[in-house]
Formats: sequence, C-alpha cells, structure tokens
Amino acid sequence: MENYNEIVKKQREFFLEGKTKSLAYRMQALRLLREIIKLNEKSLMDALKEDLNKNPFESYMSEIGMLLGEISFTLKHLKKWSEPRRVKATMAQFGSKSVIYPEPYGVTLIISPWNYPFQLAFAPLIGAIAAGNCSIIKPSELTPITAKLIGDLISQSFPEEYITVIQGGVETSQALLKEKFDYIFFTGSVAVGKVIMEAAAKTLTPVTLELGGKSPCIVHKDANLPLAAKRIAWGKFINAGQTCVAPDYIYAHSEVKEEFLQYLIQSIKALYSEDVLLKGEFTRIVSKKHFERLTGFLSEDKIHYGGRYESSSLMIEPTILDNVTWDDFVMKDEIFGPILPVLSYEDTSNMINTITERPKPLALYIFSENKAFQNRVLDGISFGGGCINDTIFHLSSPYLPFGGVGESGVGAYHGKGSFDTFTHEKSILKQTTRFDLPLRYPNRKNALETL
Ligand code: NAD
Repeated sequence: MENYNEIVKKQREFFLEGKTKSLAYRMQALRLLREIIKLNEKSLMDALKEDLNKNPFESYMSEIGMLLGEISFTLKHLKKWSEPRRVKATMAQFGSKSVIYPEPYGVTLIISPWNYPFQLAFAPLIGAIAAGNCSIIKPSELTPITAKLIGDLISQSFPEEYITVIQGGVETSQALLKEKFDYIFFTGSVAVGKVIMEAAAKTLTPVTLELGGKSPCIVHKDANLPLAAKRIAWGKFINAGQTCVAPDYIYAHSEVKEEFLQYLIQSIKALYSEDVLLKGEFTRIVSKKHFERLTGFLSEDKIHYGGRYESSSLMIEPTILDNVTWDDFVMKDEIFGPILPVLSYEDTSNMINTITERPKPLALYIFSENKAFQNRVLDGISFGGGCINDTIFHLSSPYLPFGGVGESGVGAYHGKGSFDTFTHEKSILKQTTRFDLPLRYPNRKNALETL
C-alpha cells in the first residue's frame, strides 16, 4: 500500500501560504478549469465512449455541459458568496456586531465513481476550488480512460500542491483514507460510504457522502400517462440506467398500470431503436461483474418488454419487468442498470408505508395531476430530493442543493450548495470597547469599579 503522506503534506503547506484563499486566484482557477474542459471536449467524449460507449449527446448533456454550466454559475456568484456576512445580534450582545466569515477547510479528498466519471470528479472540485481549498481527486478505476484523461488535464494545468489526481482502486482509496484531510467528499455506493465515514471518524474529518439506493417512481391514477411514460423512459434508460437518481422501480396505481405499461413501451421504442444491441448504440454496463449481476435479474416469467443482452459488448437492452413483488431479488438493492420493475398499489397509505419501511431514497418521483396527492407523498416520505411530473432534472439546477438523507447520503452540493459544502462558517462577535455592560458580571458593583 502506497503512502500519500508526502503529497498531503505538500498540499497542506501550499494551503497555509494562503494563495488559494484569494478571490482572484479562485476565479482564475475556475476559468482555467472551464477552458480545459472546452478545449478537450472531443477527447472527453472519446474517453466516455471508450469507457462506457456513451454517445456524444449524453456525454455533453450529463457531463460536459453540466460542468460548464456549474462553473459559469459559480463564477457569477462567487464574489457575493465569499463576502463576510453581517447577521443580527440580540439585546444580550448589545454594542457588538456579529459576522460570519466563510473560510476553506484546507486539504480535501474527492473520491468519485464510474457512472458519470468526468462530471462526478469535477463537480465537487468546482466547489472545493470556489471555497479556496486544495484537492486530491481519486477517480474510479472502472473507467480508466476517462480517469487518465482527468489526471492528464489536471497535471497539465495545476500544480500538484494545489490539485492533483491519484489513480487507483480500493487499495489506493484506503491508503488515502489513512491520511488526515480537512474534508472528504465521497460519491459512490452505500456500502463504501460506510467505510468512508468510519475512516473519517478516526480523525473527525467532516464528510459529504453522495450515495445511492432504490429511488421509487410513483405513477398515480390521475397522471398524464403518455407524458409520464416518456419522461420516465428517458430518466431510467439514460446511461443505461447507471444513474444514482434513475427511477429504480415504478410504483403504479393498479387502475392505470396496464395502460401506463403500453405507453412506456411506446416511449422506449421512440427513444431507442428495437435493435439497439445490434447497432451498439446504447451505453454499456461498466464491467463484467455488474453485467452478470444485472442479467441475473432477468428471469423469463417477469420480462414484460426487452430482456435481451449481449455479453461481448456488455449491453442490456431497455427492459421492463412486470408482476414483480417485494420478495423478488431485483427489489432488494439498487438496480443501477436498464431494468425497470413495475409494482402496483391500490391504497395510498399502504404505498407510503411500504416506501417508508425501507431506507430513505436518494430520489423520488411523483406523477400525478392532483396537488393533494403530491403533497401527501411529499409529506409522508423522507427522501433526498426529486421531481413532480419529471425525473432526474432536479439535479441539474444549481439552485437546488442535491444530496441524500439517511442511507442515501449526508450533505448536499451543486450551485451555492457546493461552495457551502467546502466552506467552514467562522462566526465572529466583534465587541465594542466604548462601554462595558455590567449586567454580564456576577458582581456588578465590582465590575463597574474596575472600569
Ligand atoms: P463504489 O462505492 O464501488 O466506488 C466509488 C469509489 O470508491 C471508487 O473510486 C472506488 O475506487 C472507491 N472504493 C470502492 N470500494 C472502496 C473501499 N472498500 N474503500 C475505499 N474506497 C473504495 O461505487 P461505484 O460502483 O463506483 O458507483 C455506483 C454507486 O454510486 C451507486 O450506488 C450509485 O447510486 C452511487 N452514486 C451516487 C451518486 C450521488 O450523487 N448520490 C452519483 C453517482 C453514483
């Protein structure tokens, strides 16, 4: 196991020089980051194609374009976010001023997954830079071409004492976790999230954990079914379902389930050609291990649509499973692939209880035209975030902090949320010396006499 003590030490020394705290330095770094993304758009798309067979449209929309938007938003607001913030004082602090000073944590560790290997490494980095930190990024070993490109782009543009990329798998991650960081930002599975939190607890290092889980998609009896089907098919099958906030399963009202299924099949056909496997147009499953796990869910009697796969290219076509029960294997853990089980409910309270008995979802989607129903679900279930009458889109807004709750994660980011995540708010009370209120002292008479 390698020792990363030297690089952490180097970054800490650099951080303590104070350069990274200056607004001009941070803005310059963000502009540079934007520049290298723009200049290397083509190489990034090629890398994503090689690692995951992502098509250029998806690569731009969900990785490159999203980061460019996030950087521009941050540059626009950074000066304001960075300013010390005066807050009110109560009568007990009469004569004083209260001010909150945002300050960076110091040396941060960013560990990222493979499903959006570029976006999920750089999105936290934007927050880390914006707040004035140094960063070490450990990208996923399962998307090595993108990971190498990320490493090359960073090393060509930033000194390693400021930002560096360390390549490797589980062992590398664990060796890094032995070092003392000032903040750890992890995106990945629930199981590994627990490992990260345990390691961070040893040094009381604060963490953000962007995890996963099973995200329900509720289709109520009054939903606009054709539109729901279209938006769900898009959100589920983008990136071959390897999206942390993909609808994991459909929970449809029994009165509309059959009709909805017909629309869903139509939508899949409209989005993807029927011979998507032959044409090789679909995002592939990242590894043989994940491919085998997913094809294990495909038992003949449950396949309602699709179900074909191609071992040589690691591709599984968009698939719907019907007559699924909570006892089925596919309902135990997050699916993270292009397989969509459909369950039905009749009673809203039962449906809510069934979801709340399970770990809190990262995302939840409600398709319904009825406000009272929407509010009942919003009120009754705790989850990270989500959409009403849409899927996934909530994570693309810089105005909506994105993160999980309970087992689906700790903390949130995007937009100002990213700046806040990587910022410690230092609260300062500035006391007047023009007078001294005797009220605070136990012996008021003596206190007055010492003046
Ligand atoms: P993962 O947890 O297996 O790996 C994530 C990172 O952790 C990788 O860099 C990996 O090298 C490292 N890692 C793996 N095992 C480790 C260990 N034992 N100790 C230390 N580090 C270790 O996750 P993944 O398979 O890359 O990604 C899929 C998961 O990530 C899914 O559960 C998905 O929902 C979740 N995810 C969440 C978000 C979010 O924003 N909430 C985004 C994308 C993915």
